[in-house]
Amino acid sequence: MAQLTDDCFAFSGPLLPLGEMERLIGERVTPVAETERVPLRGARGRVVAEDVKAPVDLPPFDNSAVDGYAVRHADLLEHGETRLVIGGRLTAGASANLALKPGQAIRIFTGAAMPAGADTVFMQEDVVVDGDHVIVPKGLKLGANRRLAGEDVPAGQVVLPAGTVLEPQHIALAAALGLTDIAVRRRLKVAIFSTGDEVVEPGSPRAGAAIYDANRFLLSELLARLGTQVTDLGILADDPDALARALQAAAAGHDLVVTSGGVSTGEADHVRSAIERIGRLVFWRVAIKPGRPVAMGVISGSSPGTGAPRQSAAFVGLPGNPVAAFVTFVRVVKPLLRRLSGARPQSLVPLPVRAAFAYRKRKDRREYVRVALQRGSDGEIEAVKHPQDGAGILTSLTETDGLLEFPEDVTAIEPGARIGFLSYAALIG
Ligand code: AMP
Ligand code: MG
Repeated sequence: MAQLTDDCFAFSGPLLPLGEMERLIGERVTPVAETERVPLRGARGRVVAEDVKAPVDLPPFDNSAVDGYAVRHADLLEHGETRLVIGGRLTAGASANLALKPGQAIRIFTGAAMPAGADTVFMQEDVVVDGDHVIVPKGLKLGANRRLAGEDVPAGQVVLPAGTVLEPQHIALAAALGLTDIAVRRRLKVAIFSTGDEVVEPGSPRAGAAIYDANRFLLSELLARLGTQVTDLGILADDPDALARALQAAAAGHDLVVTSGGVSTGEADHVRSAIERIGRLVFWRVAIKPGRPVAMGVISGSSPGTGAPRQSAAFVGLPGNPVAAFVTFVRVVKPLLRRLSGARPQSLVPLPVRAAFAYRKRKDRREYVRVALQRGSDGEIEAVKHPQDGAGILTSLTETDGLLEFPEDVTAIEPGARIGFLSYAALIG
């Protein structure tokens, strides 16, 4: 379904650095074109299709930021207190056809429109009320506690650029501007499979050498969080013909097909050869640990029966070990999904934290280490490595807070080194 050229994933180098992968995705993958208008409610997670401009100023009128007394700054004495007559009262929502006369103050509340002639507001805590007069101190700056029309957003400004993924704060901004719906790209349709003769559905009988499927649950939750429409197509046996048939059928109605397992070079790993039969496989040996290998490709759809060509679907084959599947999902599938969906690339800034451990790694590979954050003896936050770092250890994901990202050029660190930390919340969001 997605607009993919057959060679969109082509890469001829030995081991693809992550940065290079992101560049290739940006250059060679085209976002889905269809758009629709959706109401603000339910728009969370959708991708803005065209720049949204503010139809009005925000705030729409000058108003008070505090409960207090609105005054004209020019009426205030420079070197002492000023005594002003209270000339009226303005609550939030009251119509502001009250004008401030010279020597007057107007009792005003937060959000009420500034009366004509007033430019400054004293907080009620800072004044003394004496009958129908108010005594204000010296020294308040012109414009204090006044919110100007358009100081947040001037009318006409682009507030939600195309490619924005709508979060609660974006929806609040659209609502504050009086908008009721937004043009967004259509949702991506993603099909998922698990593969492996040993993998069985939780709740079904489990033979001695079988394991319950974790990856389909992992992937469908991750995909749902990213706003895609997920079709869970179950578990596929390690059988090349069955794999090819199922993957091709799935490609027909989806933008992306994601599998886990069966992509390494073992004799029972048939996913790669299945893709070679029904499309084009580019084996992206991404320079990432845990995770490598990740298979990418395009399944060229064909209408069942007729053999007529149809639009193709992208394919990603993730490793079977759940931790490797998780890391490659957030670092490989997610950038691909964002691009397909029309979203701008996510700028994830790793926060430097102090590593509480020594670490050695291979050069030219980005490595992710599962860590828990805790306070060190000096009160500073430090990252503690999970004691079990196998790619199949699921509790290493549930007992930690996120990943330390070791850049390609680093080969060794000692305890105390500062390394970028990415929280799971940021990675899966
Ligand atoms: P594979 O990539 O197929 O060689 O699988 C690597 C490891 O991941 C093996 O130990 C598999 O049993 C395990 N594995 C594969 N698929 C799943 C799954 N869906 N859930 C949990 N573990 C899996
Ligand atoms: Mg397998």
